[in-house]
Amino acid sequence: MDFSPGVSYFFGQLSKAFLAPGSHISLLSLAGAFLIAFAFLSLRRYRKGRRIRVRALLRALFPRHIVTSKSSMADLGYFYFNIFVFGLVFGWALLSYEVVSHSVAEALTAAFGPRAPTALPAYAYRTAITIMVFLAYELGYWVNHYLSHRIPFLWEFHKVHHSATVLTPLTNFRVHPIYMCIFLNILALFIGAANGLGDYIFGLATHQYLLSENNIILVFFIYLYVHLQHTQLWISFTGWLGHLFMSPAHHQIHHSRNPAHFNKNLGSCLALWDWMFGTLYVPAAEPEKLEFGVEPDRPNAHTIRGELFAPFANAVLLLRSLFDRRPQASPLPAPEQKRA
Ligand SMILES: [Zn+2]
Ligand SMILES: [Zn+2]
Repeated sequence: MDFSPGVSYFFGQLSKAFLAPGSHISLLSLAGAFLIAFAFLSLRRYRKGRRIRVRALLRALFPRHIVTSKSSMADLGYFYFNIFVFGLVFGWALLSYEVVSHSVAEALTAAFGPRAPTALPAYAYRTAITIMVFLAYELGYWVNHYLSHRIPFLWEFHKVHHSATVLTPLTNFRVHPIYMCIFLNILALFIGAANGLGDYIFGLATHQYLLSENNIILVFFIYLYVHLQHTQLWISFTGWLGHLFMSPAHHQIHHSRNPAHFNKNLGSCLALWDWMFGTLYVPAAEPEKLEFGVEPDRPNAHTIRGELFAPFANAVLLLRSLFDRRPQASPLPAPEQKRA
């Protein structure tokens, strides 16, 4: 039997994930996150007048109880699933944003007539489209996340992400395939619409600035603090900064089991949409005591059965109970008897 296609797929996916500089989990961006975390902890110790010792810092960055926890193992399982299996099984269910973009540009041309190609230099309209697509990504992320928290059927699938009881950069991958499908389709709609609108406004096919197929502004935030959102390092943006950007502390609040924090901070890199839609919770400068997870005593909380299959069963049960609760249709009134 020839295993080479499988082996090359395995290494191809691994190198796409870790070596492509614009990937969500590139080694380069992880190194960047590590350096920022290291500098942050050193500065905190320095301010408290404590000695800066590398071993103590490394222990603080990688506490054994977090690295070896069941929750982290489940994150690893989901990382494997989402890197190697998701595309193979669910690729067919995903909309292409290029198709959406073409349709939107065509619909706008049909409605308002064609536009002459812009006289702006390429860097100007490419910068504009890069910002538009990034804002559309953030809005699509917020909308999908809001629906996932507010619609009980969708919450069953998103709950998988929230059942993590410790946060590490791999928790980013702890997302159920159904959540992922809906997320990627909503993203295709929002990003496609923004790109199509840009093509129409500028009168030509525009191309955002990309790094390894990812919007360059998004990649910038991945390097800056996206990995640190899933850690217990309390790096918080307060004041106006906290109204614009989703600091690591913002996202830790999102994972908190304190009811005051439920359904808050639904954005990805920006806090802007949360601020506009009233779901923003700006964290304090000093660390708040947080516990992560949902129903932490739930059996199978970190197993394949509990995290991959149970959400399907729970979602179906939920739908059934919804239909069962609908009022029964009353029987048709009997036709009036004709009097003899
Ligand atoms: Zn959430
Ligand atoms: Zn999260």
